[in-house]
Amino acid sequence: MNYTALAEKIRIWADALALTIGFSAPNIPEKHQIAMQNWLAAGYHGDMHFFHHNQEARSDPKRLHPTTCSVISARLNYWSEDKNTSLTVLNTPSLGYLSRYALGRDYHKVLRHRLKQLCEKIETEIGPFNWRPFTDSAPIMEHALAEQAGLGFIGKHTLLIHPKAGSTFFLGEILCDLPLPADTPTTHCGCGPCTACMTVCPTQAIVAPFTVDARRCISYLTIEHDGSIDPALRPLMGNRIYGCDDCQLACPWNKFAQLSTSDDFKTRHNLNQPDLLSLWQWSETTFLRNLEGSPIRRIGYQKWRRNLAIALGNAPYDQQIMQALQSALTQSDALVAEHIHWAIDQQTKTTKPIAVAVKKSYI
Ligand code: SF4
Repeated sequence: MNYTALAEKIRIWADALALTIGFSAPNIPEKHQIAMQNWLAAGYHGDMHFFHHNQEARSDPKRLHPTTCSVISARLNYWSEDKNTSLTVLNTPSLGYLSRYALGRDYHKVLRHRLKQLCEKIETEIGPFNWRPFTDSAPIMEHALAEQAGLGFIGKHTLLIHPKAGSTFFLGEILCDLPLPADTPTTHCGCGPCTACMTVCPTQAIVAPFTVDARRCISYLTIEHDGSIDPALRPLMGNRIYGCDDCQLACPWNKFAQLSTSDDFKTRHNLNQPDLLSLWQWSETTFLRNLEGSPIRRIGYQKWRRNLAIALGNAPYDQQIMQALQSALTQSDALVAEHIHWAIDQQTKTTKPIAVAVKKSYI
């Protein structure tokens, strides 16, 4: 078997699935393993205790899939519109901001399906081989593998950046037993002296270049964190109700971000610029129905309401908001009620400035 020729064919088949791929050995460079250990030791993972589990597998992908001799890393673009809408929403406190990756279908299913399709295509060419696809679904250091596969460099915000595609893409991997020739790893970090993402982060969560304190990160707080959100951080969250893209919006490399060609990531239910009060009216049934197939559904109705309450509290005083908050109090559980009380208190401070104006440093 000519594996070099096969690798080139796989690239073409991947391209037909809108995947850009690279190949690497299943090895995680030591510097990434050390960085992970230091990050955990500092407690920056917050409540994400699963990072402590499976550390051996995270450092050695062969432990996840023992016959692995190659990793096919893949990226799939997800931006469905230019960033001006994002900036407008961030500057409009009556609207809610949701991370752009979550506006359409759940990427786990979409990307996993495409990786599976790619493997099946390879099998039609060469017959059965041993493979397993991953999409943010196992302890894999996917940025490190993608960097090894030449798909880009890791920026100071810790996301992968490709000089011709920015950072607005998902990553997935196929672990397989084909001895495919490895691509040239990316060794040059393109950040240079830039610190735009660190400066613009609303909660100053990028505590050092290449180090994010998840406990301050709005993506973590609104998605991963289950309990009460630190009142000191709430005003800084502005109208961000599910995730946050500020570091990506500020990054100069995203001048080169590519729009998705997939209908799967098209915006549903006006989620690119939703009215906060309209979202607040959603019952749990509406939440579950409207977000069927969306990654947002995973956080559950309680966290959804908690996040919305904070955004409503951060909006300028509005009698309709006050009424909506007050009338929801009796039907809310303790967690949401606590955030509603906070929001009502914020609303009553009528002279307060808007919590977080979009900074001029966005490109
Ligand atoms: S904003 Fe600047 S420092 Fe941050 S990832 Fe982009 S290039 Fe690097």
